[in-house]
Amino acid sequence: MQCKCKETLEAKLKEHVAKSLPEGYEDFDASLQGYGFGMETETMTMISIYQVPYKGQVMVPKKGGDGMKRQKIDTTIRAQYCPFCGKRAVPEGEEESSNA
Ligand SMILES: [Zn+2]
Repeated sequence: MQCKCKETLEAKLKEHVAKSLPEGYEDFDASLQGYGFGMETETMTMISIYQVPYKGQVMVPKKGGDGMKRQKIDTTIRAQYCPFCGKRAVPEGEEESSNA
């Protein structure tokens, strides 16, 4: 991501959540989920990316032809823009080419 929304929001959320905690709490550890790292192809540097989970299930025919079995769907889709400020995830012209 090219912006600092994750860091900014995490700080705000921590402040917000901490208000509801009892006095004397310890080991506060929380973060926005879905963020990870990816390779930026042009400069071969690691960049922060945001991935939206896509999960579910589907019934597929068994190989032997005798009935159906449940198959899990578990993948992610990489956000092209920040969901909070709308700024492009990667600079213009440096988009990843693999998911075109
Ligand atoms: Zn942002």
